[in-house]
Amino acid sequence: MTLHCEQIPYSRLAEEFGTPLYVYSQAALTNAFGAYTEAFSALEPLVCYAVKANGNLSILKHFASLGSGFDIVSGGELARVLAAGGDAGKTIFSGVGKSEAEIEFALNAGVLCFNVESLPELDRIQAVAGRIGKTAPVSLRINPDVDAKTHPYISTGLKANKFGIAYTDALAAYRYAAGLSRLKIVGIDCHIGSQLTDLSPLTEACERILLLVDRLAEEGIGLEHIDLGGGIGIVYHNESAPDLNAYARSVARMMAGRGQKLVLEPGRSLVGNAGTLLTRVEFVKQGEEKNFVIVDAAMNDLMRPALYNAYHRIEAVELRNIKPFTADVVGPVCETGDFLGQQRELACEAGDLLVVANAGAYGSSMASNYNTRNRAAEVLVNGGEARLIRRRETWEQQMANETACL
Ligand SMILES: *Cc1c(COP(=O)(O)O)cnc(C)c1O
Repeated sequence: MTLHCEQIPYSRLAEEFGTPLYVYSQAALTNAFGAYTEAFSALEPLVCYAVKANGNLSILKHFASLGSGFDIVSGGELARVLAAGGDAGKTIFSGVGKSEAEIEFALNAGVLCFNVESLPELDRIQAVAGRIGKTAPVSLRINPDVDAKTHPYISTGLKANKFGIAYTDALAAYRYAAGLSRLKIVGIDCHIGSQLTDLSPLTEACERILLLVDRLAEEGIGLEHIDLGGGIGIVYHNESAPDLNAYARSVARMMAGRGQKLVLEPGRSLVGNAGTLLTRVEFVKQGEEKNFVIVDAAMNDLMRPALYNAYHRIEAVELRNIKPFTADVVGPVCETGDFLGQQRELACEAGDLLVVANAGAYGSSMASNYNTRNRAAEVLVNGGEARLIRRRETWEQQMANETACL
């Protein structure tokens, strides 16, 4: 028995493209996108894929072909969306620290709106729009102050958080925006965190946002869209799978009879389950207290375990007739935190292939060159066909912008 991505055995991918290798299933991307459009079909939402989860151009192009918009958090991500043939008019610019140059780039590209996170940002957008003679569509990111009950590093909707405008300041912020001549208020937005498996905080946030929409309407501030953000979790380990359909039904009930268009910004739930990190075992090291399976992928390739103590399932590609043992799966990087999994039961030996599952989101997009390791290649599998969508980096590329002066 051997593991496959769609119709292709992982062993063949390793032979052809080398390891470590990110492998994505195109069918899984399509299905994840379809799950959103189907669940929310009554509302015909604009689904804006959050590029930071995985910004590979082929993945962006695939989502664009399915009708997706995009949620971006930097000028670089906008450049990616445009390079992939994405529609700027379906692109939303989020993030707390947009620079003047990024705002100008986005205005000229014609983004759907800026999700604005502070009053000084409103001033900055007003100034840039005035300078280049444009009107800027804005939506305010309101912090609904609900506890997303997720990891503190990926919880964003609480008062004590750097993101968004405080709920109690929201009306004043909208009044302020309404007084700025170069801004056009088009929406409201919230995003309370990531990897949410209990969806009640999301419906609670929606409820609170809709109360604000009504208050704004009373003041004559009408909105074109309501953006409920992203954050739907996926199953990595023993979480319960969040019920997208139940969430969609609650949102549909709350949104019924309203004139605004629904916008969603999912990232992880569109790509997370579609990707794996394929890696080869370099050594099996029997320790006095612990065993280690040392593989050729590391924290620079997949940072989530080191950063969030995140769990990723790890499986041997070939079923081997070896006695299973318990080991930490670690990379070659010189850090104790460099592990992909701890205390895993595995049956493998040097030269074997392992897959690190559910690595499509916040995997390659968070990769670095730490220890001067080349970033992994990426492959997109469609049925029996595998396309290289990112070549393996080279040392020359890593050093290209440096000089050895003195
Ligand atoms: C990261 C992010 C998302 C996507 O979050 P997921 O948990 O990956 O769905 C959406 N909107 C904003 C503003 C974000 O920062």
